[in-house]
Amino acid sequence: MWILNTHIPSSLLLVQERVSEFTYPIPQTLDCVKVHLRVSSQGHYGAIQLAHNYPAPEQLDGEQVIDQEGGILLPCFVDVHAHLDKGHIWPRTPNPDGSFAGAMAAVSQDTSCWTEEDLYRRMSFGLQCSYAHGTQAIRTHLDSSGVLGQRVWKVFRCLRQEWSDRLTLEAVALVPPDYYGQPEAERLLETIAASQGILGGVFFADPQLPQWLDRLFAVAQTWGLPLDLHVDESNNPQDRSLLAIAQAKLRHHFSLPVTCGHCCSLSLQSPPALAETIATVKAAAIGIVSLPLCNLYLQDRQPHHTPRWRGVTALHELKQAGIPLALASDNCRDPFYAFGDHDGLEVLRESTRIAHLDHPFADWVTAITSTPATWMGMGSHTLIQPGAPANFILFEGRTWNELLSRPESDRRVFRAGVEIQAKPPSYRELEI
Ligand SMILES: [Zn+2]
Repeated sequence: MWILNTHIPSSLLLVQERVSEFTYPIPQTLDCVKVHLRVSSQGHYGAIQLAHNYPAPEQLDGEQVIDQEGGILLPCFVDVHAHLDKGHIWPRTPNPDGSFAGAMAAVSQDTSCWTEEDLYRRMSFGLQCSYAHGTQAIRTHLDSSGVLGQRVWKVFRCLRQEWSDRLTLEAVALVPPDYYGQPEAERLLETIAASQGILGGVFFADPQLPQWLDRLFAVAQTWGLPLDLHVDESNNPQDRSLLAIAQAKLRHHFSLPVTCGHCCSLSLQSPPALAETIATVKAAAIGIVSLPLCNLYLQDRQPHHTPRWRGVTALHELKQAGIPLALASDNCRDPFYAFGDHDGLEVLRESTRIAHLDHPFADWVTAITSTPATWMGMGSHTLIQPGAPANFILFEGRTWNELLSRPESDRRVFRAGVEIQAKPPSYRELEI
């Protein structure tokens, strides 16, 4: 199959020497490069030709041809921070006031409904939405305390097996910050290790934070497990656990990957405090994931008050420091975020508007594709390059403006070079 005249972000296009047709340099000043691209019958990318230099191939030997007429091609999305276990409980347990505290209380109440069947139905629904919208990999946090946690991980492993030919799935144990010091943590650690999982937790400022972090890093070191933490999801500038986590990683000489999510309060800290944290995060080689949709929903919410603050972390300052960044969906139709559809394009579109990721667009698209793919061990397989699996999405939009102005609900998703027919499931499937 040939895909003709398609725009690809230059930050996602990797050229190898054996592609003799290519002419260098690719103009890095452009957001996109227009190419003709061949997909092999084995489902990999083949030749990639710059449309600027080459007319559309004429000898196509009966191959299928899709002329994109300038429409953008993106690799399938990587959603590196989701909460599939909480997803879609909104209809039965909404957030009473839209606040963070309201969300915590509502989810705590709802967990009494989390049977295996209920978890399976809702998590499966989320996976179907993700897949249909063009996501190829998801890392989900899972509420992991006690008996309930064992049940959630069991359903996750079942679904990971069922979806192994379509989605790469990872899970992170979400527990209170002192959990790893409790006797019942041992069973959870065995479950995480047996599931190739990741240690997680929720961290705010606290006098006991240093000792909790020392415990966490020591446990992670012993078990050889990476970390993905919920950090400073608040508007309190005194919440500086991101700095403490970076210091702890350096102190423990911890070499496995560490990811910190949210980090909202960072953007409300004084310039010296911000600079200190960013320098320490950089030195500790920590990746940051921002969840702009959920943070916009929860942060600065007060009764009868118009929000003034957008809730996102200091994305531009972190990027200027060269810290790896991801954007992800977070919660979906649950008390932490009432909306959403597990759609990577919506995350990119709304993040662009919320956090001003334009002027220029630069390479922010890597935050929902290649950067989190690296964190999930997928290497450069998500880049557009000869030999890589042809997992991609074709859009009608020819420019970033066109791409981010419409939902692009009629996008075409290809996995291993074959167009999938999946559509987002009907909400009626969530009803018993
Ligand atoms: Zn989260």
